[in-house]
Amino acid sequence: MENVNRAQLREEGKQLYFHADGDAEKKKEGLKRLVAAQERGDAEASFILGVEMLRGRLAPLRGERVEKALDYLAAASRNGSMQARALLNQFCETRYRRAVCFDPAEPAPLTGFDGRAIRIRRKGIFVPVDAELHFDGTINILTLSANIHFVYLSDNAFDRARYEAAILRGIRDWEGEYEVFGGQKLRLELELSTEQRIRDSIHIIPFDGELSEAVESVGKYTGKEKRERLMSCVEHRRSFAGIGIGRWSVHTTKTIYMQSASGRFDDEDALRNTAKHEFGHVLGVGDMYASEVDSLGGVPPDKYGDIAAFHLYDQEYYMVMCDENAPVSNNDVEMVVLAFSENRFQRFQPDNTGKKISDALGKGN
Ligand SMILES: [Zn+2]
Repeated sequence: MENVNRAQLREEGKQLYFHADGDAEKKKEGLKRLVAAQERGDAEASFILGVEMLRGRLAPLRGERVEKALDYLAAASRNGSMQARALLNQFCETRYRRAVCFDPAEPAPLTGFDGRAIRIRRKGIFVPVDAELHFDGTINILTLSANIHFVYLSDNAFDRARYEAAILRGIRDWEGEYEVFGGQKLRLELELSTEQRIRDSIHIIPFDGELSEAVESVGKYTGKEKRERLMSCVEHRRSFAGIGIGRWSVHTTKTIYMQSASGRFDDEDALRNTAKHEFGHVLGVGDMYASEVDSLGGVPPDKYGDIAAFHLYDQEYYMVMCDENAPVSNNDVEMVVLAFSENRFQRFQPDNTGKKISDALGKGN
């Protein structure tokens, strides 16, 4: 019923707003309906309001125009608008390209901020994600290999093939070409297998039953993971990664717990984006949330020049470790390189463990 209402409000709103033919009252009435649809979670209405505001055709009641426009677009993106995601991505990318420019350099083996060669070679049965960096004469390639072990705690009926495919797509979203450490090209490649084996794997577990039972039964995959930590994570997020928070290393067990808003694990788009975000944790990258439960204070806007282009409003960034709908950025991949080369978890923000933030921040990509 709610859906019908908001779709109807939006369609009427569009008619009145876009076909007002100079009739200010009609246009105002259309806008009212679009806002009402937006408030009911309509993705398209949010997108329209965001675009109108971004283009300067609409002024916000309060607050800064561009920030408010980005707020609308982010809401549209969260409600599933692919157009909003594409626009936010393009907007941030344009700002980023304007802010960061690299001198074209001769292809060479990857070096860090200090100019020293970066070496990564992490392999073996006690390393769930094998990582190897090599320069092929034209480009640096970081190859990450892992076995993805899909675990099922109950025989709840949902389409496992589609669920698994969506998750694998989300993990594969990390693949691509990036520019790191001052514009050096790096290609991230994934080699994934999906064998049914416990050893040397990343475990992916759908949470669809009683939480405490699930935590018990996954104990054998998560090793020393603290139960309270799991409980706290799951209460505040829809999904999470068990990576040994505070003690991530290339050797720790890595588990991704998937939850489903519908309980049916059928929202492939959401599953994919969640898997993309959680895989970032598996790769040793922290959250960018302004979330009190984790003692994380958020990343103040404009604190770091290299990610300022991705800042939307408040402490929201259009970056995958802040907003799972966002794509993977250069900075994220720079953090993955540091995580595997230094064998150290990379943080966007200080937490109560007193550990330092990632060297990737504030140095320019
Ligand atoms: Zn997270």
